[in-house]
Amino acid sequence: MNEIINKNDTNTADLNWLELSAYINNLLGTFDQRAIRILEETEKDPITTSIIEKRVKEGWRVKEEAHIAPYGTCNRELKLILISFASLKNPYDFHKTLFHELVHLQYGKLLDSGELVYDNSLSAREDWSIMESFAEWIGRNLRANPTLLKKATNVFRLKPTIYDLSSYNALFVSGSLKNNNGQLELFTKYRKKYYESLGIFMD
Ligand SMILES: [Zn+2]
Repeated sequence: MNEIINKNDTNTADLNWLELSAYINNLLGTFDQRAIRILEETEKDPITTSIIEKRVKEGWRVKEEAHIAPYGTCNRELKLILISFASLKNPYDFHKTLFHELVHLQYGKLLDSGELVYDNSLSAREDWSIMESFAEWIGRNLRANPTLLKKATNVFRLKPTIYDLSSYNALFVSGSLKNNNGQLELFTKYRKKYYESLGIFMD
């Protein structure tokens, strides 16, 4: 086990983007069969706006939950995506956690069940690290997509929040910027510059 994997044993959601990407790239670069399989299967069946809509039609709801820590979980029986209070405090953490759970919903068989274990010499703990890392890595990539973020905000009726360029674009990309005297447009032009300077959060 290398240093990155050991770090990953704590919680993949705590890794910054560089650490998480390095871990995933290392797995793919060494042709780890589990990682390659996850990448192939998830690319075949990507999470789109219609998939997010479908979840709501199936009855899935987002609910805050005090008794889970520190991120989120899915209750498949009650069709609830539970987000911890800790994650709710920060809008980016909240969105990141939501998309992580949407990834678990979409690829549950692949990422939750441990069916990836194909080599008895590898520990279940390492499998868990790989599955969780991919859930987090895919989730952060999806969150960075303004179209998906906008769809999730709308269908799950989340409070709209802006904290980086993606969340800005998710709310303002639709061209609903103008008012009669152009003030809002001017305002958002400067706001856009500010959020462009912040960039897209990935950590
Ligand atoms: Zn997870």
